[in-house]
Amino acid sequence: MKLFSIFGNPVSHSISPKMHNQVIRDFNLKACYIRTCIQDPKTLMQTFHQLKLDGANVTVPHKEVALAQCDKLDSFAQMLGAVNTLVKKNNTIIGYNTDAPGFYKAITSFGKIKNALILGAGGTARAIAMVLRENNIQVTLLNRSAKRLEFFIVNGFEAYDWQNFQASSYDLIINTTSAGLSDEKLPLEQNLLANLMKNAHFAFDVIYNKQTPFLKLAQQNALTCKDGSDMLLHQGILAFNLFFDNRFNLAEIERSMQKVFLL
Ligand code: NDP
Repeated sequence: MKLFSIFGNPVSHSISPKMHNQVIRDFNLKACYIRTCIQDPKTLMQTFHQLKLDGANVTVPHKEVALAQCDKLDSFAQMLGAVNTLVKKNNTIIGYNTDAPGFYKAITSFGKIKNALILGAGGTARAIAMVLRENNIQVTLLNRSAKRLEFFIVNGFEAYDWQNFQASSYDLIINTTSAGLSDEKLPLEQNLLANLMKNAHFAFDVIYNKQTPFLKLAQQNALTCKDGSDMLLHQGILAFNLFFDNRFNLAEIERSMQKVFLL
């Protein structure tokens, strides 16, 4: 019997247990996926061992902390500095990041994008910034405070805080902040965000299953919008396959996992 968990704080909103348990049931596997709230980030890996897990997903706000506690890192996760998937192999915990490819798959329906503005500078922003740049999309970062911008500046991204932001026009605006997750806040001052949206074509909010204030404003400005459901689905498919040694067909996992989004 294999045991998996989602780690985060808060974690009650996460539908990862439903997604993974759906595939476990459909594929007739001896496994179970639970949720665990990690209040003290220092205890993350200790909790992994105490629960005798075979794998875990990591969500807000522990992706950077998780990276520091892994025994080994996949090279892409190491480059991003953020981990969302932990896999136990021969008593070693390996850290991966499936958010980045999951996000990129989710925006393919938008078509051609030249440049993007990312709001926020956490683990999810790192993943998205790197995957956009790898796909030749010019990236600008804008975060509420300066302290998390260092990673982006060191890696050659144009990155601003609210105080020194120099606005330009962007095809795509992405909300990677947790503003709107469990409150009704916008990730940026309303007038500034509305002005940025007037010149944009697409808006993406990584928050899922919720019409956030960010997406409401984007719709009022006639942007083509997407919430984080497809990103969640695709990061989940890739994580599931890592949990099971890449033994399954991705399209089959997708067919099964997708049912959760249709309920
Ligand atoms: P982090 O905690 O690492 O980063 C959060 C970021 O949000 C920080 O940059 C922080 O700014 C900013 N922020 C928080 N509150 C506000 C606010 N009120 N106004 C403006 N900025 C704010 O989080 P993650 O990167 O791990 O996750 C971010 C979001 O992405 C979460 O909502 C998570 O659920 C979602 N997510 C969705 C996925 C999906 O598959 N759809 C996958 C991964 C994540 P500061 O530095 O100033 O504190």
